[in-house]
Amino acid sequence: MQPHVIEVSHLYKAYQTPAGPFPVLADVNLQVAQGDYVAIMGPSGSGKSTFMNILGCLDMPSAGSYVLDGYAVATMAADEVARVRNKTIGFVFQGFNLLARSSLLDNVALPLVYAGLGKEERHARASELLKKVGLSKHMQSRPNQISGGQQQRVAIARALVNQPRLILADEPTGNLDSTTSEEIMAIFDGLNQEGITIVLVTHETDIAEHARRQIRFLDGKVVEDTSHQAQSGRVG
Ligand code: ADP
Ligand code: MG
Repeated sequence: MQPHVIEVSHLYKAYQTPAGPFPVLADVNLQVAQGDYVAIMGPSGSGKSTFMNILGCLDMPSAGSYVLDGYAVATMAADEVARVRNKTIGFVFQGFNLLARSSLLDNVALPLVYAGLGKEERHARASELLKKVGLSKHMQSRPNQISGGQQQRVAIARALVNQPRLILADEPTGNLDSTTSEEIMAIFDGLNQEGITIVLVTHETDIAEHARRQIRFLDGKVVEDTSHQAQSGRVG
């Protein structure tokens, strides 16, 4: 059996607000095997982004454990968490989050600045990845000179630059038309075939069907997980 890249147990999250704690996630339990392809669905406000931010170590749970690639990140110091995150995870966001004033090449190469690589090596690796997502002709363009689908390709290339074993994508096709969404999903499909674990959030059934496993959130709980259907149908 493949080891788990994600192991979440009894995870709780409440945001601190002026009116007091606002509970969002309640007793989430989830394991994701290396190489899995998971789509998270559920209504707006059900806690999907909160969960993704915790998986991505951008936020901490209020209680419970999260083991990422064997590391109990919820109990580790921030700088160690950052190290594990940077070598393990690539993020893709709905809004692409590219630097407007930088070339596509520099956008993709940016994470390698933090990894301490020299310019030549950074640009070599970034151009290889831009080629991989079909943008070799646009390396020197700025984000506003290309389409939304192309911008998301750049964001995927950037997410891949540290050779992560896990890609987390929060509504990566949320701003794209359906044809462009399918093109983006074809890239995720190919990455999963290469062995990269993918967890993505989507509202659309067509998009979720690209994944091998579908999970549904409702009111901060997992109410459905297709990987459990053979044993027990609905869970939670
Ligand atoms: P989803 O991604 O499923 O739409 P979110 O995780 O973004 O859901 O939000 C879940 C709930 O938590 C919502 O009610 C949202 O308003 C609330 N929420 C999200 N972020 C914060 C925050 N930083 N502070 C307080 N409440 C928040
Ligand atoms: Mg969200």
